[in-house]
Amino acid sequence: MADDDIPFDKTLDLAPDTVDEPVPGVRRVMANNPGPFTFKGTLSYIVGRGKVAIVDPGPDDPAHLAALLDAVRGETVTHIFVTHTHRDHSPLVPALKAHTGATVYAEGPHRAARALHIGEHNPLDSSGDRDFMPDVRLADGEVVQGDGWRIEAVATPGHTANHMSYALGDRNILFAGDHVMGWATSIVAPPDGAMSDYMASLDKLAARDEDLYFPGHGPAIPDAKRVVAYYTLHRKAREASILHRLGKGAADIPSIVRAIYIGIDPRLTGAAALSVLAHLDDLVARGVVATEGTPSLAGTYRLADAPLAAG
Ligand SMILES: [Zn+2]
Repeated sequence: MADDDIPFDKTLDLAPDTVDEPVPGVRRVMANNPGPFTFKGTLSYIVGRGKVAIVDPGPDDPAHLAALLDAVRGETVTHIFVTHTHRDHSPLVPALKAHTGATVYAEGPHRAARALHIGEHNPLDSSGDRDFMPDVRLADGEVVQGDGWRIEAVATPGHTANHMSYALGDRNILFAGDHVMGWATSIVAPPDGAMSDYMASLDKLAARDEDLYFPGHGPAIPDAKRVVAYYTLHRKAREASILHRLGKGAADIPSIVRAIYIGIDPRLTGAAALSVLAHLDDLVARGVVATEGTPSLAGTYRLADAPLAAG
């Protein structure tokens, strides 16, 4: 299945560092950090009125800080929630906390989903905000009560090990971070992310009530459960394409990427290789695919029931 099979919506008429209010009680301000992974920019959300929470302050950018403070002028920021610790989501936290005195809530500090294998270097090292530490660590299902709003922490590991989504009580709204986005599929790249966790988190969201998602990038997602179902189908189809390619013979990751990502943006081939590795990690753990030693970007992969090549 190609990415175009998912009904993506790429319309987002929001200028950087201006505020709008897509639904009553939820305002958003987009940072000016467009790119192949961030779409038009990271979205920070302001929840409530008067005494407010901010979800995902965003990148360490003085203009974005000024825009957020401007948006809440005359109000008090009591809470800061962080979905995950990629550099486009959390590095503005210390400055925003210093200006507002808000308490910072998140699942925990940045960490890999699995230990690095011997000799493996983490290609995502620079994308993690390793300085981040919340004031309050949230567990799955924990509820934080604010002034006129209530937020439930919904653990959604997969994109990162510490990824947390936030449900806005009684509103059927979910702040989905980078777990589900309306403009592209989410990136699941080891060792920060893990495909088995990611798929389990999608199943978890499919079983919940929220049906309007506000993602970390891109427009709001109405009918969100339909998009979650598409995401699941998309991952299963990608797994099937990898198995189909390996059915023709052993292959390394660059050959698999060439076989299954047709017409990919060249800036994304590194991410595609990591996404394939995420699937292979999972397939090797399930005993479906075999490789020499532990799965790595440099490895060669074959179906577990295929005979080893002679010699
Ligand atoms: Zn991210």
